Amino acid sequence: MHDHLDHQLRTLVAIVALEPCCLCNGGSDHVGVFIPKRERATDYGVPEGKQRMLFYPICNECLQSEGAQERIEETIRNGIGDYRIVKR
Ligand SMILES: [Zn+2]
Repeated sequence: MHDHLDHQLRTLVAIVALEPCCLCNGGSDHVGVFIPKRERATDYGVPEGKQRMLFYPICNECLQSEGAQERIEETIRNGIGDYRIVKR
């Protein structure tokens, strides 16, 4: 079962890695993962009572920029881009 999940995660990460940076739309260098807190999950489009891992593409420059985490979360909350969601 874990092997199946690992494979699913690897495939997902590989797909997200090909997408442009979620903040500047330039080429991305990393795939980040964000897991919203349960009580705020619905703000990020996660169904009530569920927990999800949200993967996003990001470049080096944006990752190191000030307030990057806040801007990433805001981008995901606003539903900008196409963030892959995986069931846990
Ligand atoms: Zn960027």
